[in-house]
Amino acid sequence: MTKIRVLNPIVELDGDEMTRVIWAMIKERLILPFLDVDLKYFDLGVQNRDETDDRITAEAGQAIRHFGVGVKCATITPDAERVSEYRLKKEWPSPNGQIRSILDGTVFRKPIIVRTIIPAVRSWKKPIIIGRHAYGDIYRGVELKVDRPGKVELVYTPTEGPERRVLVHDFAGPGVVMGMHNLEKSIRSFARACIAYALSERIELWFSMKDTISKQYHAFFKTVFSEEAAARKADFERAGIAYRYMLIDDAAAQMMKSAGNMLWAVSNYDGDVFSDVVAAGFGSLGMMTSVLVSPDGKFEFEAAHGTVRRHYYEHLKGRPTSTNSVASIFAWTGGIKKRGELDGTPSVVAFAERLEAAVIGCIEAGIVTKDLVPLMEPRPTGYQSTEGFIAAVEDRLTAV
Ligand code: NAP
Ligand code: MG
Repeated sequence: MTKIRVLNPIVELDGDEMTRVIWAMIKERLILPFLDVDLKYFDLGVQNRDETDDRITAEAGQAIRHFGVGVKCATITPDAERVSEYRLKKEWPSPNGQIRSILDGTVFRKPIIVRTIIPAVRSWKKPIIIGRHAYGDIYRGVELKVDRPGKVELVYTPTEGPERRVLVHDFAGPGVVMGMHNLEKSIRSFARACIAYALSERIELWFSMKDTISKQYHAFFKTVFSEEAAARKADFERAGIAYRYMLIDDAAAQMMKSAGNMLWAVSNYDGDVFSDVVAAGFGSLGMMTSVLVSPDGKFEFEAAHGTVRRHYYEHLKGRPTSTNSVASIFAWTGGIKKRGELDGTPSVVAFAERLEAAVIGCIEAGIVTKDLVPLMEPRPTGYQSTEGFIAAVEDRLTAV
């Protein structure tokens, strides 16, 4: 069999635990036999991050910036327990957080839709992708408990010019206050990343805030977003997609009634809540992918779930596991498809689509891992092991 040549490199970020085991199987059995691809490999396994004092993470992020496309395996974000489990030097920061800041990127979560997996919301037929702004608001808020009567004010002391004050509240008794902020630069990058992603996927872009109530803070987001969308008006027209602003409550109701197929961009808190609403509504974490997109169009693909720690401990004891590899396979296909699009190589895109079709074909035929069984109609009688599922995908891929 002649392999399909991929013109430019793909950056590969290896990871931890059960997903690392799955990752190697996917690469050996579903990717390398079919593609002649230059993988720029970075081992982000927690031991190697520790050995390199985490330089490897920064290098991997820079490589994605340089080559434009990365695929990432799930990684451990160490806490105190992990530091002793893996004898680490310290609690290294989250690799995802670091790469996000290197790329100034926004994370989009996208469910994989299969005919035989019935979403909790009947009208949902296509993916609903949530774009969550990942800076500021309550996540960088400062708070104060008010325990006796008194006045709370916001004071702005510019480097030049007069001070400005607004009254928050004149407290007659106990209460609570919070101050929060955001940055124009961050909001603009967020808007650009959302626009880049909507254009690349050719799906409608929704953006929601509550500017009827918050006439400065939320209204500022709305203005920045509208400006950025207006600047790409010709691209929206060419892609045949629309930009819609809606109030958050209106959008939430519309989303529940919709058939999907849009990117819904939301503030940090709304994204926290609605990404879990949508994930639960579509079914399993094993079927949720995640894409990090930078404002200038660099992409990193991964599964939305973690390293599936509990399954890994079973695996280490030599017991059989049934871990869903679908989101990890789609991280690879997402990266390969994007590489093919950017390189203008339709055969590379077609291979990624063929692999996705093989995965979907298996699931529709009832060949699934354990997590999917209760979500399916008709319900399969048994389930596959971790390896068994990947082998079934491989069979289908070589059969067509
Ligand atoms: P997790 O890996 O998301 O798994 C939590 C549970 O969800 C699993 O125990 C399993 O449930 C189910 N699950 C998740 N993915 C599955 C899959 N592919 N197939 C079947 N079941 C799946 O979270 P965790 O085990 O609590 O976290 C482990 C590590 O992941 C942590 O160290 C965390 O830092 C890291 N993490 C990394 C990322 C990332 O790199 N993007 C994201 C989140 C977490 P059952 O056990 O009931 O079968
Ligand atoms: Mg959350």
